[in-house]
Amino acid sequence: MTLDKIKEEIEKAKTVVILTHESPDGDAVGSSLAMYQALKKMGKEVDVVIPEMPRTFEFLPCADEIKKESRNDIQYDLGISLDCTDTKRLEGFNPWYDTAKTKISIDHHGTNAMFADYNYVDPVAPACAQILIVVFSSMGIEINKDIGTCILAGIITDTGGFKYEGVSTETFEFTANLIRLGVNVPEIYKRVLQIKTMANFELRKLALNRMEFFENGKIAFTYMTIEDEEKTKAEAGDHEGLVEIGRDLEGVEVSIFIRETEKGFKASLRSNNYVNVSEVCSIFSGGGHIRAAGCTLPYNLEQAKEKIIERTKIFLK
Ligand code: 5GP
Ligand code: MN
Repeated sequence: MTLDKIKEEIEKAKTVVILTHESPDGDAVGSSLAMYQALKKMGKEVDVVIPEMPRTFEFLPCADEIKKESRNDIQYDLGISLDCTDTKRLEGFNPWYDTAKTKISIDHHGTNAMFADYNYVDPVAPACAQILIVVFSSMGIEINKDIGTCILAGIITDTGGFKYEGVSTETFEFTANLIRLGVNVPEIYKRVLQIKTMANFELRKLALNRMEFFENGKIAFTYMTIEDEEKTKAEAGDHEGLVEIGRDLEGVEVSIFIRETEKGFKASLRSNNYVNVSEVCSIFSGGGHIRAAGCTLPYNLEQAKEKIIERTKIFLK
C-alpha cells in the first residue's frame, strides 16, 4: 500500500525537502508546515521551501523557518510534494525534482498527474491538510497544537470555512480533536479568511468595477494586470479571493478571474452548481477541482478573455 511505502521512505530518509505549488494558498502553506514539524519531531534534517510566501500565513508556527530556495549542496534523500497536481506547478522548484532520490506526492486534486515515485492522492478530501491527519496517524506521529494549527489553516482555507462541498463528518471530527489540543479556530479563521490587506482591498475595487457578465449573467468575468499590482503595491497572495466576488452573485454559474503574469494570464475559475471547471481548464493544460480550478492562458488580455469565455460557454446549460 502507498501509505506503507510512504511511511517506510520517510523513516528511511535522513534529509528531506518539502515543496508545494506556486502561488501557495493556506492549504499549501499549512500542509507544508505541518509536515515540516512532524518530520522535525522525527529527528529529520528537513527544509521547507516556499519561494513566494504570502504574508497572510506568516502567523503559522514555524513559518519563519521557511526557506526561499532548496539547498544545492546536498542531494536530498526524499522530496515531498504537498497539495500539488503536477511538476509544472512546482516550477521554480525543479532542483528538487531533479535531485531528490525518492519523491512522494500527497494531494487531493482529482487531476493529479501521479508524477512522484509514491503518490497518495485522495480526491474526496476537502484539503490536503486533512489527508495529513490520516498519514500522521498511520505513522504514529502525534499531532500537537502547532501542527494542528497548520492543518486547520489548510482545512479552513480550502473549505472556505467549512462551507464547500467535500466537507464531511470526518472534517468536523478531526476539527473537534484539534480544538481539544488547544487549536484556536476563531483566530485561524480570522487570519486566513477574514482580514484583508489594503492592497487586496484596492484590487477588489478594481475587480468589482471591471466585472462583466456573459450568457445571461451565468458567467462573471474580471481581471487584473501587472500594472494594477504595481500601483496597489500588491504582494504575494494579495489577489486571493477576488474570483469569489463573481461566484457569490445570484445567477452566476461560473466566475472567471484572470491575472496577468510573465507567462500570460493565470485564470482562476469557480462554479456554483453544475459546471466542472477543472474540465474547462483542462484544454489549457490546467486542472484543479470540480468547483475550483485554474490554468495559464499564454495570450494577451483580449485573447485570454475570449478564449476562456468561449470554452466556458460550452459547459453551460
Ligand atoms: P486558484 O484559482 O485558487 O489558484 O486554484 C483553484 C484550484 O485549482 C486549486 O486547487 C489549484 O491547486 C488548482 N489550480 C490552479 N491553477 C492550476 C493550474 O494551472 N494547473 C492545475 N493542474 N491546477 C491548478
Ligand atoms: Mn488544497
